[in-house]
Amino acid sequence: MTRRPEKGRGLFYTRDSMGSSDLAPPRYVEWARREAARLGVTLAGTPEAIEGMIARKASADGDLYLDYGLAGNTLARPGFEAFRRRALADLAVSHLFVPLRERIARLDNPVEAVQAEIELRYAGLTLVFQDEVAAPFRTGEQVDVLQVLPALLAYGASGKFRRDLARKLIEAKVRLAGQGFTIGGDPPYGFERWLCSTAGEPKRRLEFHERVKLPGHHVVWLPTAEAELVVLRRILALYPTTPAARIAAALNADGIPSPNAGRTYTTAGGHTVPVSGLWTQNGVRNAATHPALEAVMEYGRRAFGDQLRFTPTGPRALEAGDYGENKKLLTVTNPPERRMATPVPVDRPPVLTAAERAALLAVAAARGQGQRGKPRARGDAPNPLGGRVFDLNCGWLMYRYQRRGRWCYTCGLYQNSEARCCDHNVIGGAAATRFVLACLRQRVLSAGAADKLRARLRQLAAGEVGGNPADDRRAGAEAELARVKRQLETAGRNMALAADDDEREAMRATYNGLKADRARLERELAQSSSSRAGAADPEREVAAALAGLDRLTELADAADADVTAVGALFARVDVKLYLRFRREERGRQAKNVPAGGVLTFGSTPPPVPLYEGPVDRPVIKRMIAAGEPVSSVPGNVSPGEFVTGQSVGGSANVKRGTTRCC
Ligand SMILES: [Zn+2]
Repeated sequence: MTRRPEKGRGLFYTRDSMGSSDLAPPRYVEWARREAARLGVTLAGTPEAIEGMIARKASADGDLYLDYGLAGNTLARPGFEAFRRRALADLAVSHLFVPLRERIARLDNPVEAVQAEIELRYAGLTLVFQDEVAAPFRTGEQVDVLQVLPALLAYGASGKFRRDLARKLIEAKVRLAGQGFTIGGDPPYGFERWLCSTAGEPKRRLEFHERVKLPGHHVVWLPTAEAELVVLRRILALYPTTPAARIAAALNADGIPSPNAGRTYTTAGGHTVPVSGLWTQNGVRNAATHPALEAVMEYGRRAFGDQLRFTPTGPRALEAGDYGENKKLLTVTNPPERRMATPVPVDRPPVLTAAERAALLAVAAARGQGQRGKPRARGDAPNPLGGRVFDLNCGWLMYRYQRRGRWCYTCGLYQNSEARCCDHNVIGGAAATRFVLACLRQRVLSAGAADKLRARLRQLAAGEVGGNPADDRRAGAEAELARVKRQLETAGRNMALAADDDEREAMRATYNGLKADRARLERELAQSSSSRAGAADPEREVAAALAGLDRLTELADAADADVTAVGALFARVDVKLYLRFRREERGRQAKNVPAGGVLTFGSTPPPVPLYEGPVDRPVIKRMIAAGEPVSSVPGNVSPGEFVTGQSVGGSANVKRGTTRCC
């Protein structure tokens, strides 16, 4: 197959069977133009143009194709045929925009429509629908049933057909799950995907996202990622006594890449964002408590699907609990009796015994009380400084909240103590974002900027021009070299303490192996720095980063998409904003305004100890009642009785200036 450009020309197709609504096609064209712009694809055609096509009964105009007043029970339609011919023949075309699959066809035999779609995807074309993006298939790539299943479901004419398929899919999953194989997804930290026979014999390690079809074989997760296991053991040793956030900070300080570093993920809003590469509290907790650690596969933790849902005994129909407000379908967390847990079929010692993992889960449960069940800011709600703004008056994280279209960060203690403690300390979200961006720019522009920040900026610059895998490899090699050096030290010490010659000989093998690793890594790093010298100009890269920062400063309060980019930037440089608030009398009203603070980058420790206790409202209430401190700022005692039902959020019914407990 001849190569097509990655971002070439786009074509648009839609069908309107009734021929009665001339409103829908122009709206679809608007959607396609927006998508094309977002993807960087050229698309000639306007809503007015398609209105003209409807009036003229034309089936093609520029990049627009239309079948108006034609039913979808056959593919033989002039508009679709012309669309398909052009898409296959015109090698400048890279993307096809169709609002929904049912616009292509609604056939008694959906396989015909799937076939047509597969043909387009094998031709190197990306199909963009409103609810899914179908990527091209590589020549020779075997098409997996799971890849075309959404298409089959969408083209299927009847609801019964969809339900039957959903049932078969769930039954297939339950069968796999019943044997301890994975039913998809990425393995947890320290684990890799292995192709394994139903008899429990691992055959070979699979590459990231590699798909293999081999009769009598399925995929299991095994703890074989050696470098990650070293880190994992360190996490497991620290977890019972050290808060996850502090473990994350220690790992970041040592430059250990987080799970999935170097990859990208898609946000709920559909934006592709690089994984920051930094450890988080959640990342540490997941690594330390995953069921796979005791060689158990757990399934059905979350229930989703619009037809039938997974249970250990097979599919179940939708229930009242699956719907939220306005009859919207929800993804729900299943209670333990609806989950399925099966031992991995491979005979291998687990990382943890069941009792050891139960102990870690208990620790996690005790710590996690605060956040359970709390809604998170979802989708495109702007929150670039989420988890990065702190109130120095009490040491608490400031939470995002939105009122009357304005989003702010406000003291978490004030919120969760229902206005009993601290104060209504608020900073506007857009203003804070602009401030941090301005500081970031200033910091970069100043001559004495830290080397660490420069290094991060170089990464950022590489990201701006499409990523630099060489840098990622280099960072990986550097981290590995540091690890190998530490292990060498330990091995050397152990050798000196060996009891006899046999033991010393056994240790020498390990020692020599590590030395060989060190030599190899040092060679690799030397080569990569010599090959770098001519290839890239760091100053130009930093200049590119500065240009990006200039742009970002302007964009601080622009559209959501840009806020996502700003958030990714903040995560990369790991910015933290610590604010002190002061009461200011303004006429009859008193208002708490930011009066100073500290901005840090990277792994810089906080300027004051932060509050690390429970944050859950009922717990805070009990702690205040018991006179226990709920703040990291010492010297203050909590007041007595708690007033229930008090509303929070800066309204006049909050009595101010009378209580201090932080
Ligand atoms: Zn506070």
